Amino acid sequence: MKYNHILIRYAELSLKGKNRKEFERKLLETVRTLLKDFKNVRVQRTFGRMFVELNGADEREVSNRLKNIFGIHSFSPALKVDLNQEKIDEAALWAVKDAIPAENGTFKVTVKRPNKDFPGRSQELNYHIGSHILRNTKEMTVDVHHPDVEVKVEIRHEAAYILCKTLKGAGGLPVGTAGKVLLMLSGGIDSPVAGYLALKRGVMLEAIHFHSPPFTNDRARQKVEDLARVLTQYGGNIKLHIVPFTAVQQAIHQHVPDSYEMTVTRRFMLRIAERTAQNIDARAIVNGESLGQVASQTLDSMYTINEVTNLPIIRPLVTMDKLEVIDIAKEIGTYDLSILPFEDCCTIFLPPQSKTKPNKNKANLFEEKLDIEKYVQEAVDGIETVMISSKKQVDEEFKELF
Ligand code: ATP
Ligand code: MG
Repeated sequence: MKYNHILIRYAELSLKGKNRKEFERKLLETVRTLLKDFKNVRVQRTFGRMFVELNGADEREVSNRLKNIFGIHSFSPALKVDLNQEKIDEAALWAVKDAIPAENGTFKVTVKRPNKDFPGRSQELNYHIGSHILRNTKEMTVDVHHPDVEVKVEIRHEAAYILCKTLKGAGGLPVGTAGKVLLMLSGGIDSPVAGYLALKRGVMLEAIHFHSPPFTNDRARQKVEDLARVLTQYGGNIKLHIVPFTAVQQAIHQHVPDSYEMTVTRRFMLRIAERTAQNIDARAIVNGESLGQVASQTLDSMYTINEVTNLPIIRPLVTMDKLEVIDIAKEIGTYDLSILPFEDCCTIFLPPQSKTKPNKNKANLFEEKLDIEKYVQEAVDGIETVMISSKKQVDEEFKELF
C-alpha cells in the first residue's frame, strides 16, 4: 500500500467572495504548473480544499514541491479507499505503521462521517478502527489527549480518506493574487530574502540588477541569475532586468564628493528602478534594506534617497536583524550563493566613508552637475532582460500564466 492522494488545505476563512475565487484559481494553477512534470498527477478542487491524485507518483517528491507553494496552509498525504469497512481498517493500520514503523507509540482515531449512509456512528467506528490497530501492532497504545499520531478517517460520499500526518505549508497568498512588484536584486544576502517575503504576500515579481562591467564581472552577474533561479521555486519564472550602470557610476565618481557618492548612487538606482517599474506596470519597488544596517540604511539616508520617487518602496526586512535574515536565507536556499565573493557594483567605486546623515538639499545640489534625465534614460534603454526559469518543463506554462 502507499499514499495515493495529498490533501491541500488553505486559509480560505480569511478571504471572501471574489478574492477567494481568485485565490483558489491562482493556487490551483500554480500547483498544477509546479507539478506538471509528474506526468500522471492530477489536481482537483473540492469544497474549499484541493486534492492531488498521485497516480503512482512519489508522495515525498510531490510534498517537497508543495511545501514551497505560497497559499498552502498545510497538507496531508491521504489514502483514498472504497467505502468498505475492511478496506478502511486496513488503510488506517497501514498509515499508523507508516508513521511509526517501530509500532511503539501512541495514537488516536478520529472519524468524521459526512456520509450518513455509511453504517455505524462515528464513536463506534473510532472504537472499531482503534481496536483493529491495537490488535495488529506490537506496542501501540491509545492516547486521546496527546497522541503521537492522529488517524483521521473521513467517510465521504464518493470514498473514505485516511490521513495520519500534517505537513506545514509555506503559508502566505498564492503568487499572482496581489499585483506586480520590482525587486532590486543585488548579489547579497538580503535582497533575495526580501524577494521571497514579497512573493509570500502573493505578488508577482520581476527583478532589476545594476551591473557595472568591466568593474563587475560575468560571475557576479551569473550569481544574481542563480539567486533569481532559486526564487523561481517559490514564484515561477522571473524576468530579470540587467541595467548597465557603469556610465552612471563613473559620472557620479567624477562629479560628486566622496561623502555623497553612495547617497547619489542610490538615488540613481531608485530613479532607474522607478522608470523600469512604470514600463512593466509594477506598483511598488521591493528592496533588502534593514534599518540601521549600514550607512545607506539609516533613517536619514532612507529619507534622502527615497525623495526621488513617489512609488511605494516595500522593505520586508526593515526591522530584522542580520542574523534573522541569514536564518531565512539558509532556509530558502539562497545563503550559500549569496556569500560567494564577487564584487558588487556598489562596492567598486564607493569610498569607505559615506554620510550616515545625508542632507537632501546637498544631494540635490551635487546632482545639478549631472544630466539626470539623460543618464536615467540611457540606462533604461540599455537594459537587457533575461527570463529566469527553474525548469524547462514548467517554463512555457508560466509564461502563459503570468
Ligand atoms: P544585499 O545583501 O541585498 O546586497 P546589503 O545589506 O548589502 O543588501 P546594500 O548593498 O546597501 O545592502 O543594498 C541595499 C539594497 O539595495 C539591497 O538589498 C538591494 O535591494 C539594493 N541593491 C544594492 N545593490 C544593488 C544592485 N547592484 N542591483 C540591484 N539592487 C541593489
Ligand atoms: Mg549589497
